[in-house]
Amino acid sequence: MNKRKKIVIFGGGTGGVFASYELRKLLGKEHQITLIEKNSNYAFPSSFLWLMIGERKPEEIVSPLTKMLPKGIEPVFGEIRSIDLKNREVEVNSNKISGDYLIVALGAELMKEPFGLKNYHTFYTYEGSIKLRDALEKFKGGTVGIVVASSPYKCPGAPHEGAMLLDAYFKKRGIREKTEIHLFTPESQPLPAAGQVLGEAVQKLLEWKGIKFHPLYKPIKFGPGENEISFEGKGNVKLDLLILIPPHQGSHIVKVSGLSGQGDWIPVNRQTLETQYENIYAIGDAASVTLPGKWKSDLPLSLPKAGVFAHTGAKAAARRIAAAVGGETPTETMQGEGYCMLEMGNGIAGFAYGNFYGEPSPEVNLKTPGKFWHYGKALFEKWWLSPPGLRRFILGEMIEIGSKMAGIPSAV
Ligand SMILES: Cc1cc2nc3c(=O)[nH]c(=O)nc-3n(C[C@H](O)[C@H](O)[C@H](O)COP(=O)(O)OP(=O)(O)OC[C@H]3O[C@@H](n4cnc5c(N)ncnc54)[C@H](O)[C@@H]3O)c2cc1C
Repeated sequence: MNKRKKIVIFGGGTGGVFASYELRKLLGKEHQITLIEKNSNYAFPSSFLWLMIGERKPEEIVSPLTKMLPKGIEPVFGEIRSIDLKNREVEVNSNKISGDYLIVALGAELMKEPFGLKNYHTFYTYEGSIKLRDALEKFKGGTVGIVVASSPYKCPGAPHEGAMLLDAYFKKRGIREKTEIHLFTPESQPLPAAGQVLGEAVQKLLEWKGIKFHPLYKPIKFGPGENEISFEGKGNVKLDLLILIPPHQGSHIVKVSGLSGQGDWIPVNRQTLETQYENIYAIGDAASVTLPGKWKSDLPLSLPKAGVFAHTGAKAAARRIAAAVGGETPTETMQGEGYCMLEMGNGIAGFAYGNFYGEPSPEVNLKTPGKFWHYGKALFEKWWLSPPGLRRFILGEMIEIGSKMAGIPSAV
């Protein structure tokens, strides 16, 4: 049982980096942990919203991945071209890399040229947020629309946060009075997978900020005019500034490998994160985790695609692998508890927390918005981007204390 094992992590984003920390902590040096990633730099997605409104500089939210990984991880930089599930082997940089255990953390891809659009505004990418920041600086007032193209998409809180941050940004610039902010989504309420209570609370926040929320608006066509958009059964809307949350899709190589079956996302056991293939786990956005609760016929039955679940999924998968490597029966599970800090502008954030695996419905509530949650989010950003060592340790300790004060499980 003490035989040297090889664990290979696909993807060096949120889930992959967390899994590497957990595995390195739990496994002896004789076991080899390899992480394969196509990008050498990591950009922190939660901060794209701050980047959009000029509250972060681009260089403040990026770090070379090698600086973020713990010691004793072998990073391989290159694009995975194919996955051989039977032999647990991938092709990268014309080499083959195989493992006794695999963790697939390849995330979600944004559709290229959605609705035939070559150029559009979004805060869902690093480059997009910089371009949008420049457009916002020139914006003198008018009708702004955030349009969610389809579900599922990463971080279902982000479009709502984006709208509230724009409200604060336009107020600061003195152009809010002559600006309308709209949020269109094909969903029936904000964050449907978090349940009715949270959806109503977020809708109230939007109303309070004068943001017009349009549920059940499914975009089907852009044009003919610039910033003109057709919604199924609702007609056309003309905007002065259109911000798109593009359609999301699963990794192409995952689909070709057969790991996701006929669909985009990899079906996994919601407690163990195991796929149907032996010793292959899938975590984070790439995975499809079916929720046990069903309270509304249009409820997206899957766990939201969010960093918090990439994190808890990584922990569960890594601990299960470590137990198996040590000859024990794995017992660690993911329990469906999650949280989301909802930025509202002016240094205030709300905090949604609860159990997404609740039955008959997810049990997620919004705590009173305040500065505490905003500082918590900023602290998490600094911790996440800091290299292993004293600074990271101190920031981690601060997060532990903050989590205890808030009465929630540790976020790190
Ligand atoms: C604007 C925005 C705000 C957000 N805010 C929050 C928030 O406040 N809280 C929260 O919990 N979540 C938030 N999220 C969501 C969160 O960022 C994702 O859910 C999380 O990053 C998913 O982690 P992952 O490891 O599954 O995927 P990712 O972090 O996307 O990592 C996947 C990695 O795989 C790599 N990869 C893909 N294909 C290949 C290949 N073929 N070869 C090699 N490497 C490959 C990619 O380069 C990437 O680094 C936000 C997302 C956005 C866009």
